[in-house]
Amino acid sequence: MPTPLPAPYFVAASSRAAALVGLDVETLKGDDFVNAFTGNTPLPGSEPVSAVYSGHQFGVWAGQLGDGRAILLGDADGPEGRMELQLKGAGKTPYSRMGDGRAVLRSSIREFLCSEAMAALGIPTTRALVITGSNQRVMRENIETASVVTRMAPSFVRFGSFEHWHYRDRPDELRLLADYVIDTFYAELRGAANPYKELLAEVTRRTARMIAGWQSVGFMHGVMNTDNMSILGLTLDYGPFGFMEAFDVNYICNHTDQGGRYSYANQVAIGHWNCYALGNALLPLIGTVEDAQGALDAYMPAFEEKLDELLHAKVGLATTQEGDRALIDGLFTIMQAGHVDFTLLFRRLGDLQVDAQELDAPLRDLFLDRAAFDEWALRYRERLRGESSIDAERRARMNRVNPKYILRNYLAQQAIEQAQNGDYAGVATLLAILEQPFDEQPGNEVYAALPPDWAAHLEVSCSS
Ligand code: AMP
Ligand code: MG
Repeated sequence: MPTPLPAPYFVAASSRAAALVGLDVETLKGDDFVNAFTGNTPLPGSEPVSAVYSGHQFGVWAGQLGDGRAILLGDADGPEGRMELQLKGAGKTPYSRMGDGRAVLRSSIREFLCSEAMAALGIPTTRALVITGSNQRVMRENIETASVVTRMAPSFVRFGSFEHWHYRDRPDELRLLADYVIDTFYAELRGAANPYKELLAEVTRRTARMIAGWQSVGFMHGVMNTDNMSILGLTLDYGPFGFMEAFDVNYICNHTDQGGRYSYANQVAIGHWNCYALGNALLPLIGTVEDAQGALDAYMPAFEEKLDELLHAKVGLATTQEGDRALIDGLFTIMQAGHVDFTLLFRRLGDLQVDAQELDAPLRDLFLDRAAFDEWALRYRERLRGESSIDAERRARMNRVNPKYILRNYLAQQAIEQAQNGDYAGVATLLAILEQPFDEQPGNEVYAALPPDWAAHLEVSCSS
């Protein structure tokens, strides 16, 4: 059972997430719901459970890990199907180990905003319904206050959920879990000759496509341990994540990740590595290493195909031609050399006019090496002319895939500091902006600007 918190209050809610379970924000602000989604009063008919899992942390087998602070309340039907509702930070569970079972306001706001921002960007993710808070103190590096975030997903089963039963040598439980996941979420695989192999193949493909989505918006998860990988291919467990600003393929968003295992460049291969860990756990069900290997081989083709599609859309190419990847790689090369802001670059690229080089300044000025940009733009214009690209039409298409507004670290930080002083308006404002990431939103331009100087020193770590 959740452990109650003293005098809980409403912090923020997502109207879009609420609609998925037939609720609205005004209702969620009411005392009944604030108490229910803090864990202070049980929802009628709810039988709370916590799910055990293990996992590999930073590539090393770590044994049992959680779930030390998530409690499942039950599920609710909605217009897009069934959603499980889970409290994160509602107190200790049988799997809390040394932890207090709590989450702090800071990390709950980060998870809440990023879940909903990712959903608006069209990237598969768990959702965040509501945040409640309490003045109860929680010890982290500093003293902070307690908060509960209610998350939603069709399932929170993780790669680590399978690893747990495999490493415990409990084949019956392993099979039970796999059968539940197949029957409930991958029913189309039931008739396959080897449904467990097909499960691994499909999860591998979904993971690859999800990570292609991450790369395309510059999202870095930061802690891709196998216990943070969803069996549904959803972005899961938002901690020290980051969005790329000044482009650097080797950027590490998690201050704790000194070796850069989960850097922007590495997260592609790590996604594959994690699928191997899942394959290893499923091996007793799959049967042979050859079959498991065959399923895992789906990763790179699925990743490349999805990434290619997304990158073509990002640079506004309507057709696929030989040399396209070289052209796009050329753009990334000059972005890397000049550490150009990822989001601004792609957004401004949409404004380029094929026959008006003299209007390039806002885009061109993002590069220190203007000559390198001019050289690349020459090739790009050539390629656009080759498919008779129409400026206005291309711009409209590009603006539907290249966000203007992303959750920059400093924006989250500002909303968090306001909230820590009891003012939650900043969280609601930021959410509303991030729900329309592709719209121009006149008046909100300041939220699309480069980070201020003080933001260069922001560090995020696993502490949450
Ligand atoms: P994470 O790095 O956030 O994925 O956390 C790793 C595991 O530690 C998760 O399975 C959590 O359930 C558990 N955990 C993290 N923080 C706490 C906490 N404050 N109390 C109990 N368990 C925790
Ligand atoms: Mg986790």
